[in-house]
Parts: sequence; C-alpha cells; structure tokens
Amino acid sequence: MYYNENTTIFLDGNWMKASEASTDLYAQTMHYGSGVFEGIRSYATEEGARVFKAHEHYERLFYSAEKMHIKLDYTVDQLVELTYQLLDRNGLHNAYIRPLVYLGANMTLQPTDEVHVMLCAWSWDRYLGDQLLSVMTSSYQRPNPKSCHVEAKVTGHYTNSILATTEAKQKGFDEALLLDMNGYVAEGPGANFFFEKDEKLFTAPLGNILAGITRQTVFELADELGIEVVEKHFTPEDVYDADGAFFTGTAAEVAGIESLDGNTFGLQWEETLGAVLSTAYLNRVQKLEYKNFELV
Ligand code: PMP
Repeated sequence: MYYNENTTIFLDGNWMKASEASTDLYAQTMHYGSGVFEGIRSYATEEGARVFKAHEHYERLFYSAEKMHIKLDYTVDQLVELTYQLLDRNGLHNAYIRPLVYLGANMTLQPTDEVHVMLCAWSWDRYLGDQLLSVMTSSYQRPNPKSCHVEAKVTGHYTNSILATTEAKQKGFDEALLLDMNGYVAEGPGANFFFEKDEKLFTAPLGNILAGITRQTVFELADELGIEVVEKHFTPEDVYDADGAFFTGTAAEVAGIESLDGNTFGLQWEETLGAVLSTAYLNRVQKLEYKNFELV
C-alpha cells in the first residue's frame, strides 16, 4: 500500500492526509502526461534517516520541469528540507520518496502557470526484487530524443515503460530491455543497464537514456574500486555472451540479471562485478564505508 489513513503528504505548501487530498479531473497532466517527477530513496543510517543524493534528484526535477516549461516556486534546498519533514511526519527511515509536479486544469496544449507540487513517501521493497532477472529485448524502442526530452523524467514518458514491462511479463520474462531508435541497447523501463565482459563494464552513453543517479553512483564506486566502465553503443547480440549484467535505479538499486533473451550469462552472479557493486552501493547509501565488503 502506498498510503493509509495515517499517511501525511505535502501538497502546495500544506501538510495533509493523503486520503483527504484531491486533484482536478481537468488537470493537463492527467490528460496529456505533462508532469515531471522524481524517485528518491532514504536509508536508515547511524545518523538517522538520510536521503541519498537528495540534491542531485531535485536538481534533475528542476531540469525536467524546465524542459517541460514548468515553473517551480521552490528551491532545491527547500525541497530537500521538506523531504526530511515528510519522513519525520510519517515516521519513515527506509523509504521511497515520490515528488510529483503536476499541472492544473488546462485542455490546451500550451503550458499553464498552475503548477502543483506533491511530496509523498512509503516503504518500498527493491523494485525488481532480490532474485536474478530474466530479461527480454523489447519490441518497443525508447522514445526518439527528437520527439521528446528523453533525459527528463516526464510522467508521459512512462507509457513507453509500461508497454515494455507489460510485454515482457506477458511473455514470461521479469523485465524488458529497450533499444534506441538505431537498434542499440538503451535502458530498462525504469533503470539503466550495464553488462560485464572480460572484467570490464559497458553501458550506453547519454543521449537516448535517463541520466540515472544510480548509474552515476556506480561510475563513482567503480572508479574507487579500480573497475573500468566503458560508455559505448552495443547491441543485444553483444550482450548474449556477457559474463554478467545488471540494472541500476533508485527503486531497483543494483539488480542482477541472469539472462537476456534466454542467453544465460557466463558467471554466477556472486562472481560478477555487479555483485561487488551491489554490495558497495548498499554500503554507500547506508553510509557503511565498505563494511562486510572486499573486492575479490
Ligand atoms: N531509466 C529510467 C527510464 C528510469 O525511470 C530510471 C528511474 N528513475 C532510471 C533509468 C534510473 O535512474 P535513477 O538511478 O536516477 O533512479
């Protein structure tokens, strides 16, 4: 459940019960998908709840809003502060935080000045679970970056993600992997993708993907651990004989993949760089500096 009768949300300057909040059925976001949002996690640490890379997430929210001609009457610092209040009011430590910026009643295709900001949070297990994933190459491509701002987190873009995940599940897979308009691997419906070959990691460059904050964290951790990461275009066939692969995302964290289109990867997950980075990631977000962790 995302909320119950005790859940408090922030909406347009007020704290209120989620169950009592309402919205306008004529909202432009509802009809045309012109809203922007974020997905953030907080973790219980020895210093209390800590929102991981809060500033980076809200900076991306501002970037997304700007691309969609949405004006936000807040600062990044204010939204970070409100996020800590939100956690506090709901007694949450390990939580998923969902800021949503949506637009008011407007049935035209022009921007509107009526901008609403909602912040909510709930306890959420790892989005893709803890099991290794079987993934299929989607028949859906990521949106052409000339048709929208694919690097912005816009509500309407997620119809593409819903189609891809639904197709994958209907075909008996756990998740989809989407290609870009040129047939190169782009990303998952809600996560970036990496594969390992000969002790190096490969991931798609920016251009047709969301610039994931977890992807960036994996770059930082890999750098600290002396693991080489190469950003380049590659095809699903390049991945078929990989040693390992994983998705990265705030909700999914670092999620191991077992196979792509039925081709099982060469190494056991525990032996992969992905497993090393998955542990390193959890230590980093919980501010445990490499506890229980060794590079093998
Ligand atoms: N790609 C897409 C399409 C996503 O929705 C997400 C989740 N925000 C990601 C990648 C991963 O981004 P992040 O690591 O910032 O959560």
